Amino acid sequence: MGGLCNRTAMAGEGGLPTVGASAKGGSPTSSAAAASDDPVGPVAVPPPSEKALRYYRSGNAIWTIEQVLGLALPALLLFTGLSARLRTFAAGLGRGHFYPTLVIYLVLLSALLFLIQLPLSYYVGFAREHAYGLSTQRFGKWAGDEIKGLAIGVAVGALVLWVPYLLLARSPTRWWLWTGALSLPFLTIVLLVTPVFVAPLFNKFGPMKDRALEGEVLGVAARAGVEGARVYEVDKSVDTEKVNAYVTGVGNTKRIVLWDTLLARLTPRQTRFVVGHELGHYVLGHVWLNILISSGLTLLGLYGVHCTADLLLGRFGGVFGFTRISDVASMPLLMMLLSLFSFAITPAVLALSRHHEHEADRFGLELTHDNIAGATAFVALQQQNLAVPRPGWLYKVFRASHPPIGERVDFINGYRPWETGAAERYGGRFRR
Ligand SMILES: [Zn+2]
Repeated sequence: MGGLCNRTAMAGEGGLPTVGASAKGGSPTSSAAAASDDPVGPVAVPPPSEKALRYYRSGNAIWTIEQVLGLALPALLLFTGLSARLRTFAAGLGRGHFYPTLVIYLVLLSALLFLIQLPLSYYVGFAREHAYGLSTQRFGKWAGDEIKGLAIGVAVGALVLWVPYLLLARSPTRWWLWTGALSLPFLTIVLLVTPVFVAPLFNKFGPMKDRALEGEVLGVAARAGVEGARVYEVDKSVDTEKVNAYVTGVGNTKRIVLWDTLLARLTPRQTRFVVGHELGHYVLGHVWLNILISSGLTLLGLYGVHCTADLLLGRFGGVFGFTRISDVASMPLLMMLLSLFSFAITPAVLALSRHHEHEADRFGLELTHDNIAGATAFVALQQQNLAVPRPGWLYKVFRASHPPIGERVDFINGYRPWETGAAERYGGRFRR
């Protein structure tokens, strides 16, 4: 959904920068957005706090552990023969029938992985966020959300996983092609269903309380060519200090969603820039492009699984306790090989994501002509979310879905083609 700052927008105690704060209701068009107390010259990127650096370093350690676990846990299930034993148990309960066996196995496997990872999930998702002052979530809400997430994962798995396994049995040489092709409609449905039916299971989506700002948001959307969208305010403040927004949906599900945390922490001018950025993702079709690319990569990944799984089964099948990939006990093997593949292509996927974010920043700027609001919004996010504005190259290559905040502020400070009469990349699309 291309949040402005999905990963980087966790907010801490840091306050809003004062610049631009008085510019409520400034016109979103042209340079009229500038206000009398705007800073002269470029907005400076403050150095990261000691606490932010600790959060960054410990986050990198946790990320490394998670990558290792993503491979080690499935391997453990395979090499101990546990996966095969789970399947035998499931087949006993399901009386050997294909679908009941698959679903019972899936429930057991999901529950087992959930429990093994629970201590780490609790630490990363709850204890650590509270320790850094980034979370407002009560334990009951966290636990409820975890269980809901598990249930949704199992339900979706039960709905779709029979397809590749049936294809594996019926078409052992082409299953990866059909499964990869089917991932396109599947991902499309996920994209359409998630914001409308899944997201409200976790948080309340209501109308925007500030009706004047809602009107401004709709005005910005109309100028970007997005008509007929509804604006929602989500009560994310029960979970987090993070801020986020997104534009999604088609037809009568078209929506601009703003977290209440964002509305509380950003000025109306900064909010307009954020909405402009999100509209950029929407108008430039980033989400659809991502679905297309994801399907292509899924196809490639499944082909990789097809080429390697039989080799591994030939070598270790005796230890695993199954010899055919069409056996549902192969699920950890598929997970492991797909994890390996997705890790290998992570730098390319993230580079494309950063490119999309950069273009959405450009779109938001050309739409609002409000460099100060854009740059100060990012400085506010950096302080609130304990972000490190200029992380190391390894972080950028393997973890950063968004450009580092320092680079975004640098770009925003310097990008003003409308002042020199130079061509804007997206300006021709706007309704002035
Ligand atoms: Zn974005």
